[in-house]
Amino acid sequence: MLDFSLTDEQQATRDLFREFADKEVRPLAAELDREPRFPAALFRRAGELGFFGMRYPAPEGNGADLLSYLLAVEEIARGSLAVAASCTMQSLMGTFFVQRHARGELRQRLLAPALRGEVIGAICMTEPDSGSDLFSMTTRAVEKDGSWRVTGRKTWVTSAPVADMFTVFARTGERELSIFLLEKGAPGLLVGRDIDKMGVRASPTSEVSFEDAPACLLGTRGAGMESLREILCEIRLMTAALSLGVARAAFEDSLAYSRQRKQFGKPICEFQAVQAHLAEMRTGLEAARALVLWAAWNSMRGAENTEGSQMAKLFASEKAVEICDRACRVLASYGYAAEYPVERYLRDARFTLIGGGTSEILRGNLARGMTR
Ligand SMILES: Cc1cc2nc3c(=O)[nH]c(=O)nc-3n(C[C@H](O)[C@H](O)[C@H](O)COP(=O)(O)OP(=O)(O)OC[C@H]3O[C@@H](n4cnc5c(N)ncnc54)[C@H](O)[C@@H]3O)c2cc1C
Repeated sequence: MLDFSLTDEQQATRDLFREFADKEVRPLAAELDREPRFPAALFRRAGELGFFGMRYPAPEGNGADLLSYLLAVEEIARGSLAVAASCTMQSLMGTFFVQRHARGELRQRLLAPALRGEVIGAICMTEPDSGSDLFSMTTRAVEKDGSWRVTGRKTWVTSAPVADMFTVFARTGERELSIFLLEKGAPGLLVGRDIDKMGVRASPTSEVSFEDAPACLLGTRGAGMESLREILCEIRLMTAALSLGVARAAFEDSLAYSRQRKQFGKPICEFQAVQAHLAEMRTGLEAARALVLWAAWNSMRGAENTEGSQMAKLFASEKAVEICDRACRVLASYGYAAEYPVERYLRDARFTLIGGGTSEILRGNLARGMTR
């Protein structure tokens, strides 16, 4: 029998982060976007609520299940996709490789504080000339007198201006990528210009460069891609949950607006053309949620989930952009005004088309998997 019900624990997690989003995140979302400003206090608060340790086992983490994590992500993203982008970076990519590979003093000093939100992590993979094609990266690491040195230039690094630790992918040989950790203030590490961007503006992104910078190898030399594959499904499901959150905000706001806005003597929700938008939005949202739940369920029972997580991310992110666009149409001129949130939802939602693999890359992967 199919069962879509949540456990008590999952419901409690969802309720906790719903309250956080409603009371603390949503009221600040427009201001954070306008300035734009990194949400330092909300970030720390997410740490206090245990968000950053959800996917890691005790003693440092709290070992929540994947579905609980995705429910929390959706709720925060409903409050602000930018806040959720910063928080999810910390809860997965910004801390994962430290949690997986750091030992001894390094682990002690960085991991538990990072999961409390006191140490901020960033991931450096993308370069000016290397995006989807990771193997084309030119950042190199060489071993000199028993220690590693990294040289190269990264870009689009989320949280870089506020980060305390940087997980860096670098080439250590021909088609060999390895993972390194550098801390803020390391000689040769420079955080460059902020990238002024369309959406998720409160989640800062910068260039970061390394000039013969001393670095600590995380895990085994050459195991970078293997290590990345360990969390790729989860990154994609997380991005799908971000998409659900922003899409839900757009749907709920436009439904409320359509009930209250009157034209030609009646609420606009009584016009068939507006009803069609609402019906399509809700249907798309529920279809995306069902796909995300199905993919999460597969992951939780240990089934191979490369295809499912890619389909969930592809569908949910494309639907999120469509739903946010429809919301703008329902609000018409007010959907074009900065004083209403729906134009921000649309700007923010476009990020979900890129993070976790672009739609084009995912479609290519899916088709190759079916046809080879
Ligand atoms: C807000 C934001 C935050 C980010 N944060 C981080 C971060 O913290 N750390 C980090 O390392 N990176 C980060 N990124 C970068 C992100 O991972 C890359 O943008 C992404 O990998 C795509 O690379 P690209 O932008 O260089 O596009 P490209 O790879 O140059 O792609 C350009 C176009 O070509 C298409 N394309 C490319 N290859 C193929 C192919 N084989 N088949 C079909 N189509 C293809 C793409 O779909 C796209 O349409 C962030 C990006 C954004 C927007």
